Amino acid sequence: MDGKKCSFCGNPIEPGTGKMFVRSDGSVHFFCSSKCESNMTLGRTARKLKWTKRAKAGKVEKEKPKSAEKSS
Ligand SMILES: [Zn+2]
Repeated sequence: MDGKKCSFCGNPIEPGTGKMFVRSDGSVHFFCSSKCESNMTLGRTARKLKWTKRAKAGKVEKEKPKSAEKSS
């Protein structure tokens, strides 16, 4: 089985590496590194972390343009 992706950051996982995590509810997660595993365990949202691929993918969200600040 190859072509797995990290459930957290979205990076592809090379066969033979990474970790598989099965939750008690039956959902399966794959992690490319312990970094992703711990972040998921901590309940962090991948989208809120800049280093994840998901965050980059979801960056389409409109960025608030800086409103003209008053300079005085
Ligand atoms: Zn990852």
